[in-house]
Amino acid sequence: MTPRTTRADRLAHPTTRDAVQAVAEAHGACLHPVQLRRINTDTGQTDQILIPCGATLASKCLPCAERVKVLRAAQCAEGWHLDTEPIPESPAPDEVQAM
Ligand SMILES: [Zn+2]
Repeated sequence: MTPRTTRADRLAHPTTRDAVQAVAEAHGACLHPVQLRRINTDTGQTDQILIPCGATLASKCLPCAERVKVLRAAQCAEGWHLDTEPIPESPAPDEVQAM
């Protein structure tokens, strides 16, 4: 027989949602993955895939924000940033514009 508990006792336990979120954060998994449907155009077979949300704000998704922060730091350390602003040259005017 299940022991009797009060409503306050039951509410003091973490919910399944809280437990799943804590496990996902502990393993660095995305908290709000985006579900996409991938269709093989040759066979017509569809697959459901989950991709990370890619959020850059920790308030939205802490694991994705940390992952993006580490990636940006590595890119800056490797010199992926530009030293000057790229300004494209304007094309020469065509006949109509020249008139
Ligand atoms: Zn995420």
